[in-house]
Amino acid sequence: QAKQSGRNAICFFDPLMQADMLRRVHLERGLRRAVHDGGLTLHFQPQVGPDGDILGYEALLRWPHPEQGPIGPGVFIPIAEQSRLIIPLGRWLLQAAARQLAAWARDPATRALTLSVNISSVQFRHDDLVAAVREALETTGAPAERLKLEVTESLLMEEPDQVCATMERLRALGVHFSLDDFGTGFSSLAYLQRLPLDELKIDQSFVQSLEQAPAADAIVGSIIGLARSLSLHVIAEGVETETQRTRLAAHGCHRYQGYLFGAPAPLA
Ligand code: C2E
Ligand code: MG
Ligand code: MG
Ligand code: MG
Repeated sequence: QAKQSGRNAICFFDPLMQADMLRRVHLERGLRRAVHDGGLTLHFQPQVGPDGDILGYEALLRWPHPEQGPIGPGVFIPIAEQSRLIIPLGRWLLQAAARQLAAWARDPATRALTLSVNISSVQFRHDDLVAAVREALETTGAPAERLKLEVTESLLMEEPDQVCATMERLRALGVHFSLDDFGTGFSSLAYLQRLPLDELKIDQSFVQSLEQAPAADAIVGSIIGLARSLSLHVIAEGVETETQRTRLAAHGCHRYQGYLFGAPAPLA
């Protein structure tokens, strides 16, 4: 009897699921090493103004894996979040971003550039983000007002009051906030008004359906109108074509990011 249920229990595991689990364990171990040994790198993607002039960059993480080749953040960020590796990783990212901003600030040609960094909801909730940001700014001497923290709507799903209070404390340090992937998540207009936001970032899914779906045009138009009535800047991400840019401009969007202007690349 026991033997039989034992065998059943083993049969319960799908070999594909098991292979997937092994892969995750392996990836997590490699990621832990990369986080601690400086094995992660940053790519930078330009954000441009109405004339195509570069206003700043978004920092995007890359993991050049020794055996498997480059692994994208879509794969390793969820692993980092589940294993809480996102906390040391996030701290490393803030330090690296602040160091870059401090370097830009020393050159008149680059001193006005902003740098956007993505903050995971898990990092936001489980690390002392105020202390991490303050430390990054203090140790590097980076200008706080050039640092933009990108957060997503998922952050507001739990304990919105606490999130709001933390954002206010960060805002008091001088940093700015951008709401990433806007339109894809939980969006309470009441919170939009309450949060110390500076920018809405139109998700690339809307930008990319601008040419096919008439509804996308209406959605993009209303996001831009909403941003304007809340006195927020608005930036469109994932802009790939001139047509998309023209449509966005017609609606009053004047900041863009996407392959049309430059793919994420090493700074050099
Ligand atoms: P995101 O912040 O919304 O970043 C935009 C993603 O769109 C990036 O993918 C970027 O490479 C890609 N992209 C940019 N322009 C275009 C375009 O014109 N067309 C298309 N099709 N795609 C474009 P990436 O670098 O793979 O990053 C994916 C996501 O991973 C990011 O989405 C962000 O949520 C997360 N991520 C990236 N770096 C970090 C990080 O340092 N920390 C955290 N917590 N998350 C990060
Ligand atoms: Mg982002
Ligand atoms: Mg985005
Ligand atoms: Mg996105």
